Amino acid sequence: MLEGKKFFIHTFGCQMNLNNSEQVTSILLAEGASQVDSPEEGEIILINTCAVREKSVEKLFSYLGRLKEHKTRRRSVIVCLGCVAQLYREKLLSRFPYLDLVVGPGHYQELPLLLHNTPGLPAAVTHWTKDWVELPVKPVARESQVSAYVTVMEGCDNFCTFCVVPFTRGREKYRPLRSIMEEVRQLAESDFVEIQLLGQNVNSYRDPESGAGLAELMEKMAEVSRIEWIRFLTSHPKNFSYELALAMASNRKVCHQLHLPVQSGSSQVLTRMNRNYSREDYLEKIGWLKSLMPDISLSTDIIVGFPGETEDDFSQTLELVEQVRFTNIFSFRYSPRPLTRAARWNDDVPEEVKIERLIELQKRQKEIQLKLNQEAVGQKQKVLALGRSKKGNLYTGRNEAYQVVNFSSSRELSPGFVEVKITGGGAYSLKGELSS
Ligand code: SF4
Repeated sequence: MLEGKKFFIHTFGCQMNLNNSEQVTSILLAEGASQVDSPEEGEIILINTCAVREKSVEKLFSYLGRLKEHKTRRRSVIVCLGCVAQLYREKLLSRFPYLDLVVGPGHYQELPLLLHNTPGLPAAVTHWTKDWVELPVKPVARESQVSAYVTVMEGCDNFCTFCVVPFTRGREKYRPLRSIMEEVRQLAESDFVEIQLLGQNVNSYRDPESGAGLAELMEKMAEVSRIEWIRFLTSHPKNFSYELALAMASNRKVCHQLHLPVQSGSSQVLTRMNRNYSREDYLEKIGWLKSLMPDISLSTDIIVGFPGETEDDFSQTLELVEQVRFTNIFSFRYSPRPLTRAARWNDDVPEEVKIERLIELQKRQKEIQLKLNQEAVGQKQKVLALGRSKKGNLYTGRNEAYQVVNFSSSRELSPGFVEVKITGGGAYSLKGELSS
């Protein structure tokens, strides 16, 4: 037991990492430990890490550097979790000798035991696990009281040439549908109204017991009466089928919103990325989605400056962005990641060209977003209110398109669904007032 121990957890990275941190929090709370809000108060400090980009690893290293003081002054136990833990293992322990534990994503259920045996015993626990490991999340450990992440699969078999995930999360493992449904029903009983299904490649989900796919899973979830919105990410365009688009369109609880990472608008670059679809394939799928759901909101990921990317390749990316009119994009400069195929190639796009392309892409996208958001002015939208905005005088929430909506209300609101009249739109969020 960790009775009375105070722990602090800091999370870098994506929604999967956030959900993993919720799982770790649940495990430690069940052992009698209590969560605190700052590393200064923590007897155990856990850092959940992201290795997807070089920049996130650099940020982590500087964060770990700052924790040295806690070790010397407070003798806190410092634990590194997640993808960087899996990737760098002993290297982390030798660069930061004050780290007590390095634990990969397949071993969080072992944390209580590892923490008991810790002081003075540096250890890396990162060997691969083949089977699905069930890690339930307590409602109290969740970030939100109304919207919940539910992980349905883990790992990736795709080996895109730029991506480190298959080396940090391992091969694909699927969670049994019955255990997903058990969690969804419990969430509904605890007043959660939105479920976001998570996995590195959710389209390839298969129930290991019945073989049911993502569409069948969402159909079952839609039968749970209190759940009103269902979303899923991340989708791989290669596995995104017409049947799934139809299932989205015919199941009204599935939000008309999709994150479909294109990565590049050039088929030549896509081939070198090992994405297994062409620009035309991607646009065809966008065509299905828009004809089945004219109001669909689409977002994507784009890498600029991939090895060999020419001006013409980049222009094709800009054209694709103009054509699709994404509600949001997550765009990055290419950086080589350890163990990946592309890391062995000449990183031949000069850094200043990568920066120029990224600025150009983001400028165009900002214009598109501004136009889209201004078109929404005057609409009444269903919004899932999540709490007060950072400035405190407004509420903040998300609409079905997963856009941030900041709005005023003359009465005190609890998290939940409301109707908001949109009164303004900047490039990154909408503004409005409560209308119901
Ligand atoms: S599909 Fe490609 S980019 Fe996505 S996690 Fe798998 S290897 Fe990485």
